[in-house]
Amino acid sequence: MELFIPGGEIPLPPAPKPVSRYSSSPSYSAPVNPGVVVPSGTFINPLSNCPGYVYIRGYAPWHGGVDLAKPGGCWINAAGNGRVIRAGWGYAGEGFHVVIDHGGGIWTRYYHGTRQFGVSTGDSVSAGQSILYMGCTGYCTGTHLHFEVVLNGVRVNPEAYVRVR
Ligand SMILES: [Zn+2]
Repeated sequence: MELFIPGGEIPLPPAPKPVSRYSSSPSYSAPVNPGVVVPSGTFINPLSNCPGYVYIRGYAPWHGGVDLAKPGGCWINAAGNGRVIRAGWGYAGEGFHVVIDHGGGIWTRYYHGTRQFGVSTGDSVSAGQSILYMGCTGYCTGTHLHFEVVLNGVRVNPEAYVRVR
């Protein structure tokens, strides 16, 4: 039943507070480890089996991983023990790529491979196992591996956890 009150006025609810996922700081601040402990020895170099590769680009605010290149490519190995949660094509520039879940909120990602995969989604992998052949698919201008370490969804500097140069 509706009630009509002549001259009546319903107060407006207060405006919701804006929600931001970002810091109010206007300047960029590098992502910090979101509380994930990475035990030492968790990772090995993903190019342990690729002598002669070249470190071409490091981690930066605009670049969430490290780039390691070798003309002609080579096999990329799993940086640690875990489970493959993605082995396929990525539509956001990844090209053919692999994502490994190492447990505890720790992932590694390997981008721009050829279509030669050593693993499939769902496989368990051991550190050092060949997972993907380096290529230049997706957003890529020269054959290289783009390698990321992701902690609870945050891309961090891989060089804080594994020696690649
Ligand atoms: Zn890169």
